[in-house]
Amino acid sequence: MNKELLNYVFRLQQCRVIRCLEPHEQCAADAIRSHSVQNASVLATLQENGHVIAPQLKIDSKKGTSLVFKRVGRSRATTFTGLCAEHDYRIFKPIEHNEVDTQNPLHLFLLAYRAVLRELHATMEAAVKTRLAYRKKGDVGLIPLDVPTTEGMESLSTMMSSYDTYEHKLLYDRALLTDDLSAIKHRVLFLPGLAPTVAVNSLFQPAGEERIALNVFPTQDGATAVFSYHESDARHVAPFLDDLPTTNQEADLERISQLIVENCENFVLAPAFVRQLTDEQQRQILDLSLETLYTRKAPPDAPTINLFQKQTKTGPTTKP
Ligand SMILES: [Zn+2]
Repeated sequence: MNKELLNYVFRLQQCRVIRCLEPHEQCAADAIRSHSVQNASVLATLQENGHVIAPQLKIDSKKGTSLVFKRVGRSRATTFTGLCAEHDYRIFKPIEHNEVDTQNPLHLFLLAYRAVLRELHATMEAAVKTRLAYRKKGDVGLIPLDVPTTEGMESLSTMMSSYDTYEHKLLYDRALLTDDLSAIKHRVLFLPGLAPTVAVNSLFQPAGEERIALNVFPTQDGATAVFSYHESDARHVAPFLDDLPTTNQEADLERISQLIVENCENFVLAPAFVRQLTDEQQRQILDLSLETLYTRKAPPDAPTINLFQKQTKTGPTTKP
């Protein structure tokens, strides 16, 4: 990669889409950094000295792209700039200022809605970056801009994917604006006896066009996983969720861990949990996450991964 282009890619990494994505689409205020995972309850439970651990892309001009575990301050972890301060507060107040009640349809809806907004924001940002990179390559004479190229197609497909996510968001907007949340379905799994290790807020496509919002967060004496989807996707989502939970909790935890690592970029881990993983276990999580970043498909020989840990009386153990 030539130096000017590499510098530009680094600059793009800093670029942020800062439009407020509130459901009326009328707000002109700049978006703030909002948490996609509840800061006061969930990140507070996972953090250690004000930090959690998140997988982060590392671009190196010689070694290429890799993923590393990075300590991230709680105030920045899982944040995205997709809502202005007022809309962030007004829309998500019920789950930011109270513990999430999985019997409350509004709470479940808001968890999923936040995953949808975050994903839309991420795809918009990706579309802007890909478009700018494409134009820049053309401007420095690396590719022609007036005939079809791989870069041009990539830019177009990133934009199409963002637009599809936007259309999906409209289904959620409609539910919220009409005060009829019934079109969004949820499957809630309580996983007892687990230490606080992981939190997830993500919208993903497990196989085809169908989308599942997944939230995982520590709760009293365990963890809760909430899978949410629009009713029009019910038939396609069923194969992934219908047999959960099984009678084998360990197998369920491995399956959910696999789903998280393969599909969700927006997850954070408790530092105490990461510390007791062996280097090999950490590498396996990061490798699988990187391999599935663009392909969605895990290699057939992918190792078993578990992001959960049984609760012990003394809490997660530390590596000697
Ligand atoms: Zn706003």
